[in-house]
Amino acid sequence: MNHHPRGPVDSSRIPRYAGPATFARLPRLDEVPRADIAVVGIPFDSGVSYRPGARFAPTAVREASRLLRPYHPGLDAEPFAVRQVADAGDIAVNPFDIGEAIEAIEHAADELQADGTRLVTIGGDHTVALPLLRAVAKRHGPVAVLHFDAHLDTWDTYFGAEYTHGTPFRRAVEEGVVDTEALSHVGTRGPLYGKRDLEEDRRLGFGIVTSADVMRRGVDETVGALRDRIGGRPLYVSIDIDVLDPAHAPGTGTPEAGGMTSRELLEILRGLAGLNLVGADVVEVAPAYDHAEITAVAASHVAYDLVTLLGLGAAEEVTGRAGAGAAAHAAAPAPACAAAGERRQTAMRVGCCVWKHAQDGSPSGCPRRTPHASHTPACRTFRKGRGRCSAVRFRVDVGGLQALRGAARTAFGAG
Ligand code: MN
Ligand code: MN
Repeated sequence: MNHHPRGPVDSSRIPRYAGPATFARLPRLDEVPRADIAVVGIPFDSGVSYRPGARFAPTAVREASRLLRPYHPGLDAEPFAVRQVADAGDIAVNPFDIGEAIEAIEHAADELQADGTRLVTIGGDHTVALPLLRAVAKRHGPVAVLHFDAHLDTWDTYFGAEYTHGTPFRRAVEEGVVDTEALSHVGTRGPLYGKRDLEEDRRLGFGIVTSADVMRRGVDETVGALRDRIGGRPLYVSIDIDVLDPAHAPGTGTPEAGGMTSRELLEILRGLAGLNLVGADVVEVAPAYDHAEITAVAASHVAYDLVTLLGLGAAEEVTGRAGAGAAAHAAAPAPACAAAGERRQTAMRVGCCVWKHAQDGSPSGCPRRTPHASHTPACRTFRKGRGRCSAVRFRVDVGGLQALRGAARTAFGAG
């Protein structure tokens, strides 16, 4: 933990539109001793099957990120104050050789993560997810994957090519870098080549929450189902911006009607607070098809939420309880804080209600920790002062999420 992170440029002194853009106006990686979290661009789009142009996304997303501010009300967090977050620039990859590009991305991700830095990557097309998954798996073992996308991206080949933006998750399963007990697509929709696409996807281990499922079941139930499937596993989140409806993200390579709203996507992400997120990407922004920065603004906010989630850390990290979902779900007494001065940093990791208590300077003893999605009914209860943090036992799934879990399981066709 860096106790004095260098934050973004002060936009009350230097106008937001002045100077070169880094993500959220944060320092460059070479301007800080080290980073807890780095945002890195991969300007690569040689793996696309339809519209090209995602190579221009890192620049566009940085420009659109100038308006991001340091406090995140939805998660009650100041991500840049408790963690050193920096912009690591772009990984320079060969646009003429996909194999070489994939190797270069994996190597660069290894180097960036060498001293524990966690990455939020701005693609690039979805091909980049494969080397990024390889890199996180080397550090954390096979990871759970939440894959937000209109498409499955588990096809086998295009024109005989194995490494494209439509195939990374099949390759990841074949290579054993992902945990096949905890793979989920969210937001899929649109026509497929055939029913067999779905059968093969299921055989690889993926569960599907379609775009229509999200609409019918709502955010909270969706979050409950996803959290249940992930448990305490190391989690990688991959977000193809085409998961959003073209109304919310027109600037992308393979748009499909009937997608999620940016509000739904951001709220689902906020519901992941406390999970063991180890890395994330936002891919497939194609600025040439964008209008008024709609897509780039959406991508910049999605990346901001991912940075914030990485900064909050995992419930296990807070409690010192290692292990999988079963351990995280088991009720356990929360440990005491070492000192009042540490309350804020600790609370920042676990969600809204503890942080609220720390801000208020109450209670006199140590606030207990209760990791959960900040928007859940349980949290609102705490905000109204009807609950007492000191009486709470540690559970990842609390309140409304638990009640919804049974019904939500059907999203995966599981018992
Ligand atoms: Mn897609
Ligand atoms: Mn994709």
